[in-house]
Amino acid sequence: MPTVWVLGAGQLGAMLKQAAYPLALHVEPVEPESDQIPSINDGDIVTVEREQWPDTPVTRYMSQQSGFMNADIFGKIADRFHQKTMLDTLGITTAPWRSVEVDTKAESLHAELGRDVLLKRREGGYDGKGQYWLYEDQGDEVPTDWLGTGIAEKKIPFNEELSLVGARDKNGKKVFYPLTLNLHSNGILMASIAPLARVAHLQPMAESMLGKIMDSANYVGVMAMECFRVGEQLIVNELAPRVHNSGHWTQAGACVSQFEMHLRAVSGLPIKSPEERGQSVMINVIGVEREIDWMKIPSTQCYWYGKDVRPGRKLGHININHPKKKFVQTALDELRGLFPDNYADVFDWVERELSRL
Ligand code: AMP
Repeated sequence: MPTVWVLGAGQLGAMLKQAAYPLALHVEPVEPESDQIPSINDGDIVTVEREQWPDTPVTRYMSQQSGFMNADIFGKIADRFHQKTMLDTLGITTAPWRSVEVDTKAESLHAELGRDVLLKRREGGYDGKGQYWLYEDQGDEVPTDWLGTGIAEKKIPFNEELSLVGARDKNGKKVFYPLTLNLHSNGILMASIAPLARVAHLQPMAESMLGKIMDSANYVGVMAMECFRVGEQLIVNELAPRVHNSGHWTQAGACVSQFEMHLRAVSGLPIKSPEERGQSVMINVIGVEREIDWMKIPSTQCYWYGKDVRPGRKLGHININHPKKKFVQTALDELRGLFPDNYADVFDWVERELSRL
């Protein structure tokens, strides 16, 4: 079997490595800043855990390999200007936007996009970083360091945030996980819930949007599409050409996790429709010390990424899964008592959403 090299050696690369074991695949995450250039053989596969990377000897070498998958897509997705242009070209609904040029004035942005306008960096913004709100009633001007470096988006008055994770193989076969409901706080994903019967009727629309995107790019592997739900309409917020945090629940809650699905697709193994197993919830561990007692709670899987604890940093996640919703609720009650008070809103949200199912 060929080696699957992963550009990036964070938690996503580690979880790809974990998922490789039952496939007897060798997965090797590589740190972009490493001074060791990997030795990649003909026939090996190169994939990524991130859509942007610094220009280093390692990343230059890896991205030039013939086995580098989806080489064309990263330029189109990593830069929001190109990503939004691609969505417009495909006729996929996204928040109305325009480019912030060196001479763009707040007045013209408000005239086109409304009173509240969200500036987003063209590159490098993630987890809510690289965003800036412009409020007309506060007379905000476009900050000079945003001129020529961003796009501006209309504020979407969304009902909720949903994401779809799908995969496509080399022959164009596509499979999808059920739509996932996500809670973000300050742009950071805090919790996900899947599946949800109440949004099942939106699944075909979501699949046709992501399917069109993957087909148009001849994409191979897992891709995630983050959406706003506004009434019965889905509006794409952003795409991730990789495994995604809102798909972590699939480790416990689907017969094939997103990590295994990605490896199957890129290495030419069969992909299949990933039936879910019961009810899943994922809680992200953000800026909180690890609590060993989390591990004692039934129906949970704890992932700890081994990073230093810093406020706002993704340090791990907990998957809760059970065929019966009431056992998921019991586990959440126990977990709530072991999390700091600033997680009360997250647990309240999850419990409220579960009770609506
Ligand atoms: P992003 O960095 O694009 O993933 O955005 C992070 C979060 O900011 C999203 O999950 C939304 O909660 C919020 N957000 C992004 N774009 C918009 C928008 N156009 N209107 C309202 N909220 C937004």
